[in-house]
Amino acid sequence: MKDYSNYSVDQLIARIEELEMLNHELLKEKEQETKLEFSWSGNLGHWYWNLVTNTVTFDPLKIIALGYKKEEIPENVTYQFFTERLHPDDYEKTMQAMKDHLYGNADVYEVEYRIRMNTGEYKWYYDRGRITQYSEDGKPIFIAGIVFDITEKKNSQLELEQKNKLLSELSSIDGLTRICNHRTLIEFLESCMRDADQNQLALSIVLFDIDDFKKVNDTKGHVYGDYVLVEIASMIKECIRESDLAGRYGGEEFMVVFQNTVQDQAIIISDRIRKKIADMIFAQDMTITMSGGVTQYFGESSQELIDQADRNLYEAKRKGKNRIE
Ligand code: GH3
Ligand code: MG
Ligand code: MG
Repeated sequence: MKDYSNYSVDQLIARIEELEMLNHELLKEKEQETKLEFSWSGNLGHWYWNLVTNTVTFDPLKIIALGYKKEEIPENVTYQFFTERLHPDDYEKTMQAMKDHLYGNADVYEVEYRIRMNTGEYKWYYDRGRITQYSEDGKPIFIAGIVFDITEKKNSQLELEQKNKLLSELSSIDGLTRICNHRTLIEFLESCMRDADQNQLALSIVLFDIDDFKKVNDTKGHVYGDYVLVEIASMIKECIRESDLAGRYGGEEFMVVFQNTVQDQAIIISDRIRKKIADMIFAQDMTITMSGGVTQYFGESSQELIDQADRNLYEAKRKGKNRIE
């Protein structure tokens, strides 16, 4: 930097005026340039933050895009002018991203946040910056950055995520085994319970759990474990009547709802399924067994009914597995 130590006050003032005029010209030029580019770079703006004076210089068009009039922009725009307008949920992470960069824990300052417009609505910004100047004693004094308006992209992404969530909630099929999922099982069970109440019908369920499945995963790998689940699910489905419903209750647990079936009958069918599985030869000559707990519905809640089946299943495990209780 130039040495001004022997300048008089008048000389310094003259110098400041000269620089201000130059600065004014440059800014005007820059604004024209940005206006010309605005049609294709409208979602982008540059900013410069002088940390010593806490002054932020930026495209006035960026502020106009936030719904403010040029006259409303304060003469000295501080960093806080922007951070005060951050969405409360994004405030912490934005401050953290800036701190991480200032304290040298991150190579760049980079963050996505929502910023409040004059209308009260929010825009999504992707902001990225970097320290460009340090003081002689190594402190950051100047940061330059670019901000992108990603509102459109972000909104369509959020919409898509929402749709996917809804879709998987609406879906009745378990993604891996292609049989009914937990939610569908419970819904079906509860509708069968109402039907059983109304028409004095018997209703039973079985809860199956694969024996020592952890060992299968541990010795053969998770992909193999997944394959076993798919095969077992499809076999269970094959073994049951059309009026019954088989589904994946949890990880390696399956449930069958037997309509119009008393407990003894349900035990016979469940044991037939158990045996079918035990006789199957899986890839690499593996055999797999599973245990089951059967119970009949007598007016309790679905949760109580399932808990009873689970207790019986536990009993089957305790008694040595590969059996139905
Ligand atoms: P037990 O005979 O007492 O049931 O023993 P276990 O090893 O089968 O029982 P445990 O509950 O300890 O282990 C169940 C294992 O099932 C643990 C988990 O990693 C595995 N598992 C659950 N869901 C999946 C899945 O979707 N794919 C695969 N490959 N493994 C799964
Ligand atoms: Mg289990
Ligand atoms: Mg198990």
